[in-house]
Amino acid sequence: MRLIFLGPPGAGKGTQAKLLTERYGIPQLSTGDMLRSAVAQGSEVGKRAKAVMDAGQLVSDEIVNEIVSDRIEAPDCAKGFILDGYPRTVPQAIALDRMLEQKGMKLDAVIELKVDEGALVRRMENRVAETVAAGGNVRSDDNPEAFRRRLEEYRAKTAPLSAHYAGTGQLKTVDGMADVDTVSAEIEKILA
Ligand code: AMP
Repeated sequence: MRLIFLGPPGAGKGTQAKLLTERYGIPQLSTGDMLRSAVAQGSEVGKRAKAVMDAGQLVSDEIVNEIVSDRIEAPDCAKGFILDGYPRTVPQAIALDRMLEQKGMKLDAVIELKVDEGALVRRMENRVAETVAAGGNVRSDDNPEAFRRRLEEYRAKTAPLSAHYAGTGQLKTVDGMADVDTVSAEIEKILA
């Protein structure tokens, strides 16, 4: 099972992807998590990505395409994977199409979580409050200003992906404003 999740930051892509990893035994590949771990390790990629990420902007297509191309060949991806936060631009989607074709892989579905953007800032603030209350670390781009910038990047560069995947006939849309269980049940229906 090879899936892509689309939707603005805070739409619940990560939450839904995690639920599916348990159900299907396939990994969730979050380019955001991979980049944060590169930053934490202080690798070359991490050094190049940190400032861009903190400003809520997008890391270059070249960097993320290479990270994903390597990662989807790892043994734990043999049964499939869930891409969360990639592709994020039309050129990334085109690169992914080409990459999958070269590797003899096919996508099963592209699931878009539709949400009311006004509610997203509140969700982000709640997520930060919950993380702090649980004694966890808050992401350095989880502040209202960087979040707004991420939403702008989404509208300008990622929202056009819906049309790309509608064109290929792979796009499935789910109401991401419903509670976690309802969204998850809707996704199950699509995948059944
Ligand atoms: P996320 O955890 O998906 O919200 O990603 C956090 C940050 O990582 C984003 O704001 C970008 O700076 C960077 N990032 C993650 N995925 C991508 C991608 N596919 N293309 C470019 N930048 C990305």
